[in-house]
Amino acid sequence: MADDYYQILGVDRSASAEDVKKAYRKLARKYHPDVNPGNKAAEEKFKQVSSAFEVLSDAKKRKLYDEFGPDAEKIGFDEKKAEAYRAYKASAGSAGAGGIPYGAEGVDLGDLFGDLFGGRGGGAGGAPGGFDIGDLFGRRGRNAGPERGEDLTARVQLSLAEAVSGTERQLSITRPGRCSTCSGRGTSGPVSTCTVCNGTGRARRSGSLFGSGGACPNCHGTGKAAPPCPQCNGAGVREEQARLTVKIPAGVQTGSKVRLSGQGAAGTRGGPPGDLYIETEVAEHPLVRREGDDLHLDLPVTVSEALLGADVRVPTFQGEVTVKVLPHSQSGRRMRLKGRGVPSLKGGAPGDLYLHLQVKVPEETTAEARAAAEALARAYQGDVRRELTL
Ligand SMILES: [Zn+2]
Ligand SMILES: [Zn+2]
Repeated sequence: MADDYYQILGVDRSASAEDVKKAYRKLARKYHPDVNPGNKAAEEKFKQVSSAFEVLSDAKKRKLYDEFGPDAEKIGFDEKKAEAYRAYKASAGSAGAGGIPYGAEGVDLGDLFGDLFGGRGGGAGGAPGGFDIGDLFGRRGRNAGPERGEDLTARVQLSLAEAVSGTERQLSITRPGRCSTCSGRGTSGPVSTCTVCNGTGRARRSGSLFGSGGACPNCHGTGKAAPPCPQCNGAGVREEQARLTVKIPAGVQTGSKVRLSGQGAAGTRGGPPGDLYIETEVAEHPLVRREGDDLHLDLPVTVSEALLGADVRVPTFQGEVTVKVLPHSQSGRRMRLKGRGVPSLKGGAPGDLYLHLQVKVPEETTAEARAAAEALARAYQGDVRRELTL
C-alpha cells in the first residue's frame, strides 16, 4: 500500500515508539517546506510524513491503525465505532465466500463507513453509546434503511362561498400508517441470528432484486438482526383509515394546496412520515365570476333606477350592502365594492367585488308602461346609435 504509514516513515511494523520518532525527525527535516521552498513534491511528502507520525506516535491510534488500516481514520479512531466495525467485519467474515457482503453489490467499504459514521449527525434520538449494529446498518439507504413516507394528495371540492370565507372539512383517508405492533420499527424482539437468512447474511432468493449471492435484505449481510415484525413484514407500515379535520384557509382557488405536515404516508422502518396535501377545487358560481381575487356580479336595475338613481340592496359573501346607483347610469356601468372580493391567500389586500349594471325592462308591458315608455322615447336627444359605426 503506497500510503501505508509505516512505509511512509520507512519503519518496520514492530518499530518502537523511539524508532518512529527518529524516523519522523529525519524525514521531517528532509522535506520541511523551509528547506524546500516552492517544492510541491516535498511539501506533499512532508504532509504525508506528518500524518503518519500523528497516528503512529499515538499508542491508541496506532493500535487501531494496526487493526483497521486506513479505515481507522474513517472511524475517527473512535473505540465505540471500532467496536461496531469489528462486529461488522466478524459477521461479514461469516457471510461466506464473498467475504465483505457489500462487495457483491458494488458498494465500497470506505463509502459505506463514510455513510455510516460521517452521516450520523447526532440528535437522531438514539441513546449515546447505544451503538446497536442492527440499527447502525439499518440506516443504509437502498432497500435497507428508514425512508421518509410519501407525500399524499387528497382533493376537496368547495363552493365559491367556502373558498372566500374559508372552511373546515372532515376527511377520511386511507393511507400507509405506522404499524402499531412494532411502532413503525419493522422489527419485533431483540437482535439475534437473522431469521430470514438463518445467519448466513446472504440473500436466498436467486434472481431477485438482491441477486443471488447478494446481502440478505433483512440483516444487510450481518447475519444478525431483530426478527421482522409479523404484522407488517418488516416495513413498519400498515394501511390505515384516518379521519382528519382540515382547515381550508380563505382565499383558495382551484389547484391551491394546503399542506398538512406529517399527515402523509408513514415512513418505512421508522423513517419520518410524508406530508398530506389537500388540493382544493372551487366550483363555478352560477352568478359570480372570479378573476384572481376579484369577483364580478351582474346587478339588475330597473329602467327608473338607472334613470333616476336609487339605493339598492346587493348581496356579497361578506353580507348584504346598500349600493348607490347614480342617476343616468347606463347598462354595463361598473361599480367597485372595495375589499368585497376574495381574501388574499398570501396575506395581501383582499380582492374587490365589481358590480356590472344591467338595466332590465319590465316583464310585462302595461298600457301605463307603454305610455311611460313613449314619454321616455321623447327624452332621447338624437340617435342613440349614432356612434355605432364599424
Ligand atoms: Zn410492524
Ligand atoms: Zn439475514
